[in-house]
Amino acid sequence: MVLFCVTKGSPVVFLPLVTLSNHERGVMEYTLTPHLILFYNMSKETFQVTFPDGTVTFLNPLLVAKKGLTNVNLDLLKHSHIYKWQLFKEMEEADNPHDLQVIAKKVEEVEFYQQELWGFAKNASMHKFWLVPQCECPADDNNEAYGSGHRIYAEHCPIHGEGWVK
Ligand SMILES: [Zn+2]
Repeated sequence: MVLFCVTKGSPVVFLPLVTLSNHERGVMEYTLTPHLILFYNMSKETFQVTFPDGTVTFLNPLLVAKKGLTNVNLDLLKHSHIYKWQLFKEMEEADNPHDLQVIAKKVEEVEFYQQELWGFAKNASMHKFWLVPQCECPADDNNEAYGSGHRIYAEHCPIHGEGWVK
């Protein structure tokens, strides 16, 4: 089922996906005090993204408020996260570099589109490309270079190695 479609050639702007660790999720729960929710007249569910397997993540409510996101953008962001989750599932099941690369490009498109929805400038250097399933590029090195635009690819990575169009 296609929940969300990225228009090819649309002016896109990126933002790193809000992927929360358990600790960050705890902080988020703490941040969402009744007072804050009342202040923004929003419920916790406003920020919640529920994936098909029942797991959840939350959009950053403070960033949502700061950016003054509309409900439409919020909905699109939520759908985009679910779509990306589905793309990750497809990547987990893919068994050849070609398919992996095609889907990885879709993930990139989603991340650009999410930047646009957040109201951020387009910035590919904020993509955590090494987090896609089956990527074998060095995570530590890329975390260190994060934001600089410098990417460290592993030659043997089935996605970012041979055949990857940079
Ligand atoms: Zn890789």
